[in-house]
Amino acid sequence: MIEIDSVTKYFGDKLVLDRVSLRIAPHEVVCLIGASGSGKSTLLRCVNRLVDHDYGTIRLDGVPVDDPAFGKTGLQKRVAIVFQSYNLFPHMNVLDNITLAPRRVQGQSRAEVEDRGREVLARFGMAGFAASYPEQLSGGQQQRIAIARALMTRPDVLLLDEITAALDPELVGEVLAIIRGLKDEGMTMMIVTHEMGFARDCADRVAFLDGGVILEQDTPDRLFGTPQEPRTKAFLQRII
Ligand code: ATP
Ligand code: MG
Repeated sequence: MIEIDSVTKYFGDKLVLDRVSLRIAPHEVVCLIGASGSGKSTLLRCVNRLVDHDYGTIRLDGVPVDDPAFGKTGLQKRVAIVFQSYNLFPHMNVLDNITLAPRRVQGQSRAEVEDRGREVLARFGMAGFAASYPEQLSGGQQQRIAIARALMTRPDVLLLDEITAALDPELVGEVLAIIRGLKDEGMTMMIVTHEMGFARDCADRVAFLDGGVILEQDTPDRLFGTPQEPRTKAFLQRII
């Protein structure tokens, strides 16, 4: 359970998130939509403390994310994030890429971590690519590896920031299918996406961010079908 309560964030004197409140229940998938610069990425990053918010509270299972009980790396193991740019290390093969962080952080043996790595790769149809280097993979395959890497620590929550935005259109489907599969397994997710068809199909709830404010949030059917706010309507008309 993630509880975001009245979270405010400034970059310098620029107000980027303005008293944002949002709850994500266990196994729930919430999509964030909104124009460029509306604060979607910043909100995701506040949840796993890549960015620290200024006011308000964010709790994971009742504990504030900045509670020393977590520590930043502890939090980021439980709340993993995947970005548009896959950020794989070009000089390391796939298995080394996905096992690097868990080997450093968790004090498990290399063999244990590699077993887990192969298991995650197999699940995504990438078992045959453990020894490949990122440049030998398609964009869609690289993004699948980036998702596999995020799952290595068995996070409770996955944050996805426009993970299909850099992909050729024919590769988008294979990555969205993986996300759909994670939803079906009960993964809790916050997803920033411009894929409205995907949001409609996969989200339990959609929140529309506008100028750092959540203007409305609802089921996809209602938010896309009968948006209440003029600005939501205008945004949806532009994008769909
Ligand atoms: P996009 O759809 O383009 O990814 P977004 O909704 O994700 O946009 P954010 O990246 O959260 O938007 O940015 C929100 C605002 O905060 C923007 O005005 C942006 O310029 C500003 N901003 C984001 N990161 C920083 C930073 N590290 N330093 C200063 N300003 C920032
Ligand atoms: Mg963004």
